Order: sequence, then structure tokens, then C-alpha cells
Amino acid sequence: MSKVYFTDLRTTPNRNLLDKVVDLMNRSKIDVKIRKHDLVAVKLHFGEAGNTTYVRPVFLRSIVKRLKEAGGKPFLTDTNTLYTGSRSDTVNHLATAIQNGFDYSCVECPLIIADGLRGMSGARVAIDGEVLREVHIAKEIADADALVVVTHFKAHELSGFGGALKNIGMGCATREGKLVQHSTVAPKVNPENCKGCKLCKGYCPSGAIWVESKKASIDGKKCIGCGECILICPSHAIEIQWNEHPDIFQKKMMEYAAGALQNKTKKSLFINFVVQVSPACDCYPHSDSPIVRDIGILASADPVSIDQASCDMVNNEVSLPGCAIKDISAPGADKWRALYPRIDWSVQLAHAEKLGLGTRKYTLQKI
Ligand code: SF4
Ligand code: SF4
Repeated sequence: MSKVYFTDLRTTPNRNLLDKVVDLMNRSKIDVKIRKHDLVAVKLHFGEAGNTTYVRPVFLRSIVKRLKEAGGKPFLTDTNTLYTGSRSDTVNHLATAIQNGFDYSCVECPLIIADGLRGMSGARVAIDGEVLREVHIAKEIADADALVVVTHFKAHELSGFGGALKNIGMGCATREGKLVQHSTVAPKVNPENCKGCKLCKGYCPSGAIWVESKKASIDGKKCIGCGECILICPSHAIEIQWNEHPDIFQKKMMEYAAGALQNKTKKSLFINFVVQVSPACDCYPHSDSPIVRDIGILASADPVSIDQASCDMVNNEVSLPGCAIKDISAPGADKWRALYPRIDWSVQLAHAEKLGLGTRKYTLQKI
């Protein structure tokens, strides 16, 4: 069994929530994990422009301060998105992060987008997965000495819930890695939007794109799935084919998590904020109302245990009136299935356990 530390949201003038987060780090033995001068990647989601449920920057300042006290050199990090949005390249991503409050004056450490200007900078990591033999992990995360994963825990339309495991598995992958997880086939061109400008053809590293009669086409046999053309097209004419089955999608995601954690044994910590548990990902430019009351903050060295505990805590609540769950769902009812009936969210936990990332059995220690 793994230990999961938990604090509720009750506070006093002598012990506010920022103090409680530091207490969680202390109980998780952060000083043992971080050595002097360690470069510590603090992986989070900066929030899409318009999203309001990402973890607040002031919490990151407390986490950063504690990591510096432990001797580390922390930086806040995330990777560019596969789809076009406000975080699909490093310039826009940093601008969005700063607009969402993650500037140096608040968090007191640098922001580094881990997979380069256009999401292409990665390290190939060999893994012994059920589906994959190799994963493509964002370079700056792969190169970091330690990893602290700060997650806004929420529901997710492709995996039932999105917690620490998803934050690592999808969130530490390069664009190529994200495309591999989402799709088994090459992107396709929507001819209605294509203007025949040939920009994609010039960028394609495998010569898979040709343009005829002012319309681009992609040869699926030549495509290596780098995802570059999706971002580069100024007309948004190249589309991802979101065709992967939810079970295989989750398994691939966990195999990516295994790759990201491979060189971080005993050098990682996971902190889940189970507050404003929204019905979908923070990648949307909006945040819908929470499905349950705000529960608290968890920390653990085990990403499987912390996600299992967070899932259980949400499921043990009654769903809130007026939220995306249509009928009031009682304590004990499966909130993730109520939102996404065709997705078996337990697949990611079971597969992560099978890969040796942790255990679904945990003891909860309230601090
Ligand atoms: S970059 Fe976009 S618009 Fe230009 S040829 Fe390629 S698909 Fe068509
Ligand atoms: S995903 Fe990469 S390899 Fe495939 S067509 Fe687009 S640019 Fe070429």
C-alpha cells in the first residue's frame, strides 16, 4: 500500500492553504527527493486562455519556495498542445501562461516550455509496454533531475478523469507523442479549408504531403506522425483523426507516463488539487461548473495511488445541482461514468499498476 497525504480546505489564521500545501510536501519527504542543485521540473497545466480552473499561481509560488529551500532549482513547465489553440507553440503558450498569472513576479521561478518552439523537441525513451516500445518525451522534462507534478483533478472526455497520470502521460509527450496516443492514422486534409499554399509540404519531414490542383493530400504510408503539419497550416485545414479506442488511448497514455518517469525513480512527487472538479479538460477555453463540492489537496510519491484516492473521494460525494451530471448522483455513484458512460476510466489505473508505476491500494493520512 502507498501513503497518500490529504488535507481538507478548512483553515485558520495560523494555518492557511498555502501552509497546508507545504505541510503535504514535508510529510511526503521532499527533502529526501531533492538534492542540492537538482533541476526540478514542476509539471502543471497553465490553463487555456479563458479557462479558470487551473491551479492558482499562488500555490505554485509556495511549492517553488519549498523546492528552493530543499536545494533544488525549480522551473514551471508544460508541453505544447496537439490541436491549434492558445498553447500550441511556445510563444503563445508562454503568453497564455503569463496572462493566466504565472509570471516570475508571482511564482518566482522561470517558465520553460519543455518540448521546444513547436513541440518537436523530445527524447526517445525505450519502454516495455503492451502497446508501445518507445515513447517521445519532452526534452526538458526528460533532462530534469526531479519532477513535481501539480494537477487540477477533473473529469475528462477521453479518459473519464484527468489526474496526475494523465498530466504526466499526455502532458510530458511531444506533439508526435500526443498524436500517437490519440490516433492510429495520419492526419487528413479538409479540402474545403485548404488554400493550396504548400506550406505544409515544405515542413513535412517525410515527404508525405503533395499539392495538386491547389489542394494538399497526405500519404498515410509515408507519414511518420510528427504532427507538424497540423500546427503549421495557416488555414487550419489539417485535422487529427481522433480514432483511437478509449481503452487503448488510456494504455498508451500510461506507457507514456512510464517513459516520463523512467529516470525519476524516487525523484518525483505528485500533488492533486481536488477542487473545482470540472466536467472536462482545462484545455478548453472555458470551465463548466464543478460536479462535486471542493474536497481538498492530496500528495503522494505514488501517481497511481493518488489518482485512485482522488477518484474515490469524488465518487464518495453527492453531485452538485445544476452541474453537467444531469440527475443528482448519490455518494458512491460513479461520477465519471455519469458524465462519460462509454469510457471505462479504471483502465488507466489498472494499466499504470501493471506497468509498475504504483499501486491502486493506498492508505489515506489526513494532516
Ligand atoms: S498548409 Fe494548409 S492551406 Fe496550405 S497547402 Fe497545406 S493544407 Fe493547404
Ligand atoms: S504528421 Fe508529420 S509526417 Fe505526417 S504528414 Fe504531417 S508533417 Fe508529414
